[in-house]
Amino acid sequence: MRMPLAIPSLIAVVLSWSPLSAQDRPLVVIDPGHGGDEVGVVAGDVLEKDLILEVSMSIAAEFVRAGYDVAFTRTSDVAVEWADRRGLADESGAVALFMLHAMRSDDPADAGAEVYFDEDTAASVALAAAVGAEFRALGSEVLLDPRPWPFLKSPTVPTAMIEVAHLTNPDEGARMADPAFHHEMGRALVAAVEAVAGG
Ligand SMILES: [Zn+2]
Repeated sequence: MRMPLAIPSLIAVVLSWSPLSAQDRPLVVIDPGHGGDEVGVVAGDVLEKDLILEVSMSIAAEFVRAGYDVAFTRTSDVAVEWADRRGLADESGAVALFMLHAMRSDDPADAGAEVYFDEDTAASVALAAAVGAEFRALGSEVLLDPRPWPFLKSPTVPTAMIEVAHLTNPDEGARMADPAFHHEMGRALVAAVEAVAGG
């Protein structure tokens, strides 16, 4: 389902939070995975689509605090076509696209984050590496994993798909239930974008 009206209205809300003028603020696009009938993974009573939307809002708040505009591919419980998840970022001139997900495993010992990126795009390689470094600084194990998926490919917008944690790992599940940790992840992603921009 296309949701073209949701994006401008959301940006308008974000603008009023920041003291910088609009043309000074770089834009980050956040794509909360799944939505609607696409539940994503289920861990106990936690649905990936719901948790990752909450996480996305906290991450966005940290970008706004740091002087960015943020656009979302969804802000409610709706399905989004893959072409729209990619297309919004490409049309917007964003400095980064983060596609956010969480994992489960039958083995509760499995833990850590995974970052998928396009290895043919130098800016995406750099962004993924920076995300990996920042998530390791939060105490997460991180697997950096190049994938050939079309939605990761963009010549203009560095893109990282991040499986932020294993919800079925007791420690990571507890951490992911803490809104303070969602904001920590947000500050980590801000730092990653700024590391790439500064490098
Ligand atoms: Zn997912």
